[in-house]
This record gives sequence, structure tokens and C-alpha cells, in this order.
Amino acid sequence: MKYQKVTPALVKELEKITGARHVLYADREKLFPYSHDETFEQGYAQLPEVVVKPRTTEEVSRIMQLAAREYIPVTPRGAGSGLSGGAVPIFGGIVLSLERMNSILEIDRENLMVVVEPGVVTNDLNRRLAEEGLFYAGYPLSLESCFIGGNVAENAGGARAIKYGVTSRYVHGLEVVLPSGEILELGGKRLKDVTGYDLLHLLVGSEGTLGIFTRITLRVLPLPPASAVLLAPFPDVAGAVKAAPRMMIGTGIIPSAIELLDRKSMEMCCRFRGEKVPQLEQAGSYLLIEVDGSEAEVERSYNLLADKCLEEGALDVYVANTPATREKFWKLRACAGEALKAYYGENAAEDIVVPPSNIPALLAACEELCKEQDLDYLCFGHLGDGNLHIHLLKKGEHWSTETWQAAVQAVLQKLYPLARQLGGTLSGEHGIGHKRKQYLPYVLEAAELMILQGIKAVFDPLNILNPGKITGPDPDW
Ligand SMILES: Cc1cc2nc3c(=O)[nH]c(=O)nc-3n(C[C@H](O)[C@H](O)[C@H](O)COP(=O)(O)OP(=O)(O)OC[C@H]3O[C@@H](n4cnc5c(N)ncnc54)[C@H](O)[C@@H]3O)c2cc1C
Repeated sequence: MKYQKVTPALVKELEKITGARHVLYADREKLFPYSHDETFEQGYAQLPEVVVKPRTTEEVSRIMQLAAREYIPVTPRGAGSGLSGGAVPIFGGIVLSLERMNSILEIDRENLMVVVEPGVVTNDLNRRLAEEGLFYAGYPLSLESCFIGGNVAENAGGARAIKYGVTSRYVHGLEVVLPSGEILELGGKRLKDVTGYDLLHLLVGSEGTLGIFTRITLRVLPLPPASAVLLAPFPDVAGAVKAAPRMMIGTGIIPSAIELLDRKSMEMCCRFRGEKVPQLEQAGSYLLIEVDGSEAEVERSYNLLADKCLEEGALDVYVANTPATREKFWKLRACAGEALKAYYGENAAEDIVVPPSNIPALLAACEELCKEQDLDYLCFGHLGDGNLHIHLLKKGEHWSTETWQAAVQAVLQKLYPLARQLGGTLSGEHGIGHKRKQYLPYVLEAAELMILQGIKAVFDPLNILNPGKITGPDPDW
């Protein structure tokens, strides 16, 4: 059965729920920003028929009841910084933007918990927590723009997962509006809970397909008073990959980040930021290593790690232990996405994760496959957890869209099964969304896919919440 279209009468009902100011309709220019996320590739955009911006859980619930009654698809949206088309309303319908639900409701110092609405910008939470001597350990590199709700929906990873883990580790409670409009309370401030299946963590990473998070309880940690960043050029990627675990075992220190940039990425980021780093001629890769703790611990850690890097073949090591120098190194890494857009335009952005020691094998295969298709690539990412962002690049602008897409597909059809053979999978943190779902059978068994589809059917029997994502069918436009 086809979804119903949004009618002026339905828009009036939405306006009654949220107030007319918070409904966008029949205005292409205003709807356009809600038609896409930050996915690099073209072809992952679709205008919504209407955008609605609720302020309360009750409003979200009433919108879902209306959508269920009228059989209209609803796509939840956070900040739209996603990289897999998850917030794109591929069937049109309603985009339900959580941007107005942006309050920090409680900072509970006794229990080290915070309660927030989903539209809080991740770094705004950290700025507020820092005033209390606390921090939230999730650290996606989009933290200046993405929302906590989007982080929970994607189970965001990021640069500090090597020491602190990913978002799910910190989610202890969720208020969820189900596709029927029913409101569910899961978990809370308790630290342990084995009462039945772990629905809370099933919902973390569900990409807006099972329910809409309207309140989130997160565990927070005492803010480490100091940190430092090391930049270590290595002759090649394989040497840097080998050095990382040896450095941790040899020093007994788990850094708060171990990021990798290959030389091409570093050149691109330096050009974009108008900065220089040493050894750009000789280095094949760079490690950016962050340590945190007390002043004394940090000083001891960076000295030990610097020595170990040199022992493991680093060409040199540069220490940033002032706010300005730390920021300089981090900004080089964090600008990679913007730099890619500036210099390469359309490119295929990958998010493969493998056991870290298998990164060289993955990259060697990638190099071969790119050669076969006459493509270039560069890579950077979270070496600490084996999650690399390989970007496939056109060699020239003369390629037609069809030739480019066929070449990318030819690489991915071999690269994904290889990632699986190497003990990995096709996405470590950016999710499946719309962009990767055609490739799921390359990495998941038929039985697993059936279970995923069954779970979706239990939560959303009408298939109105973010349809067409993860395992859902494509629209038959
Ligand atoms: C420059 C850049 C750097 C990035 N770095 C990282 C990184 O280091 N690590 C990482 O993991 N990701 C990274 N990302 C990807 C992206 O920022 C994350 O996936 C982020 O968690 C998305 O949050 P958002 O608020 O923008 O969500 P959106 O893009 O708006 O939505 C993402 C998905 O979540 C769903 N959703 C949003 N809010 C809710 C809600 N309240 N309830 C239910 N579902 C909801 C949407 O339907 C959609 O499926 C990066 C992106 C960019 C552009």
C-alpha cells in the first residue's frame, strides 16, 4: 500500500499540535535544508512534504498518532550531520525535527548522571558540564553541530572510543515515543539492569527506525584536568598501525585517542587549514595521540609514549601541551570532512571497521581495487578502534556519474566481503541509513537480516517510522 500524501487539512492538525510557527509547508526554500544530511555522495536527498518541530514529548506522541492514523511516513531528524542518509525523508511525508527540544534538564552530581532532551548539541553539553568539573565522554568529531539524540540514534563513536568506548556505554535511560504514539520509559539512573531483554541498547543505534528519543539519561565522568597531544609521523601506514598496540603494552597507558591520517589526508588538511606539519616529504602516515589525566600523569604519559613511538620507528614526535597547540593538531584532523568537500567534491566515504591489526591488509586490497578501477583514495580515522574512513576519489572531473558510480560499486562489492573476512564490517559509526543498505547482505547472514526485519515489524507494524532505512524497502517512485 502507498503512503498517503500530506494534505492542507493534515498541516492544520499539525499546526494545532505545535503552533503554526513550528510547521514548514509548501515553501521549497524552507524545506530544502531538511532534504539532506552531510552524506558526501549525490543521490541521497529528498524534500519532505512538511517539517514539524515539536517542543514536548506529548507533541511528538500526538504527531505520531496522527501519522499512524493517516498512514504518513515520519523521519526523525537531529542536526542533520549524519553520513548515511538516515535523516533524509526518502518517502517524503513528515520530517520531525527535534531541534527545539534542546534543554539540559538535570545535572545530577551525586549519581554522575545528566538528563537531556535530544536536541542538545553535543559540545554544548560538554561546555556546561565542564563548569561542574564533569564531562560526557562521547566525542564524534562533528560535536560542534550534532545533537545528543542523533548520537544515540547512530551509537556514535569518534576519536575517544579507544579509552572511553562509544555512545551506548553512557546511555542509561531513554524516554521513547513509539511509532504508535505510545510513550515508553526505559532504564534510568540505575547502573545495572538485567530485567528482561536489553531494549534500551537495542534502541541505541536504531537510526530513528524503532522509536523517537525525547529524553536521554547519560552517565558522565569527572573531567580530567589536563591533556596533551602527540603528533608522530611514520614512514608508512603499516608501521603506525603496528606501533599503536606496542606503545600501549610497552607503557601501560591507554591514550584517550589514537587517530591516523595517511600522507594524502595530512597534505589535504594542512592545505585546507593553511598550516604546515614537519616531515610531510618523508612521512607515509601520521598518528595523533591524545592523553588525559592529572598534570603529572599527562606529562609522564606523553614522555613515555613519545619514547616508545621513536623506538617503534616514528620519524619524530611533536608534543602539544598548550591549549593553542593541542587545538592546532586536533583541527588538522577534524577538518578532514570539510577539506574533502572543498577539494574533491563528490567522493565515496567509507566507514569500514576491522580489528586494528588488519588495517594494512584492508588498505593493500583497497589500493589494488582502486587501481583496477582507475580511482584514487585517501584514508584517515580512528586507528585506536580499527575504524577507518577510506574515501574513494575520482582522478579527474571528466567522469560521468554512471562511470563513477559503477567504479565505486565495483570496489565496494569486493572491499566489503574482504572486510568481513578480516573480521570487520562495513560501518563502525556512521550507520547504514539509506546509503549502505544494499550492501548489508555482504556482511550479514540471511538469518540475521530476518531478525532485524522482525524487530522492525514488532516496533513499527505500519512501517511509518523512517521507512526504507537499514533493512526497509526503497520507495517505488
Ligand atoms: C565533519 C563530520 C565529522 C563526523 N565525525 C563523526 C565521528 O567522529 N563519529 C561518529 O560516530 N560520527 C561522526 N559523524 C557523523 C554524524 O555527526 C553522527 O552520526 C551524529 O551522531 C549524527 O547526529 P545528528 O544529530 O546530526 O543526527 P541526524 O543526522 O539528524 O540523524 C541521524 C539519524 O538519527 C536519527 N535520529 C536523530 N535524532 C533522533 C531522535 N531524537 N530519536 C530517534 N532517532 C533520531 C535520524 O532519523 C537519523 O536516522 C561526523 C559527521 C561530520 C559531518
